[in-house]
Amino acid sequence: MKNEAQPRRLSTRHEREVASLRELSTRVGSDPLLVQASNGNTSIKLDGILWIKASGKWLAHAMQEEVLVPLELAEVKESIQNDTEIAPRCALKDGLRPSIETAMHAVIRHRVVIHVHSINTIAWAIRVDGPDQVKERLAGLHWRWIPYAASGIPLAREIGKAVASAQETDVLILGNHGLVVCGDDCCTAERLLREVERRLAITPRRFPKPDATVLALIARFSRWQFPDVDLLHALGTDAVSRKVLKGGVLYPCQAIFLGRTMPLFPPAVLVSKFTECLNGKDRTPAFVSVERSGVMLNEKMASAERATLIGLAQVTQRTEESARLRYLKEAEVTDVLSKGAHGYKEVVVMEEKENPPAEVKKLDGERKMVDNRNAYVS
Ligand SMILES: [Zn+2]
Repeated sequence: MKNEAQPRRLSTRHEREVASLRELSTRVGSDPLLVQASNGNTSIKLDGILWIKASGKWLAHAMQEEVLVPLELAEVKESIQNDTEIAPRCALKDGLRPSIETAMHAVIRHRVVIHVHSINTIAWAIRVDGPDQVKERLAGLHWRWIPYAASGIPLAREIGKAVASAQETDVLILGNHGLVVCGDDCCTAERLLREVERRLAITPRRFPKPDATVLALIARFSRWQFPDVDLLHALGTDAVSRKVLKGGVLYPCQAIFLGRTMPLFPPAVLVSKFTECLNGKDRTPAFVSVERSGVMLNEKMASAERATLIGLAQVTQRTEESARLRYLKEAEVTDVLSKGAHGYKEVVVMEEKENPPAEVKKLDGERKMVDNRNAYVS
């Protein structure tokens, strides 16, 4: 990539289309069942320019600040062909950098592309039998299953191969990752997204109430607090959720924001090693899950980590005990974490500190997230 697309005067029609994309991005980004924190991205191709969400920006903020970066589509495609980094050589306006998933948007022929980390889709996308499971549910749609590939050029290449002989494909289920839907305009793409979501929806499993006895002991430590979102306790009280978590890393955002291993403790171990477990000098976990008791959060947890944890709890509550799961391989996790993913996380956390999410939006999102507040097995 040489540089940012030279600013061109957008026609009134194109201006309207970019405005529609911003509105769509805000709606999609404000739904925690579709997007958690800064993940997910949208794009539109207009006159050879690819308008794509910038890395680390929140889709939910698309109407409040600039979250889109314009790039020359031909240059992006050239980078994919030459396997060179899709990164501008000179600084972009406002320091924005294109999303790590830009290559995927570029290889899809549709003008509008929406990529989300849909909780319902992920609950299918982590299953070994996922392709069979979604087959009937998506019958009649032009969909393809893309086995896990690392974000960036590797994933774009897999998608390119899969759609080469099926140009009509407008739904992609990304193994161990999420969902892509596309269309020739924002309205068509968003309608398709809602349809796929409706078909792939899973009712979350009810879970036992938290046990405050052990959690209250943890709360004595100054930096630990009770979660304000009840469903998080499922990661401690629900045996199936714990089993799912113990298996390893299910998708890249889990590794990036929550780490390679989950801090799951039996109450006895936790109580006997409080200081060591919870107040380690260097690596204090963002949360701790206590078997049969529930979950406690580190008050220093960034909201991107918190959103990722809530998403993970929602995925595990939608995963059946009998389902065989495909976890990311060790090498895949190492690859995710070594590709500057920590840098990405730092950008996101930094961005968050400079520009905290609007409180109202946060509350709105949480209201949706706690919809199953009454889902305890009582
Ligand atoms: Zn993604």
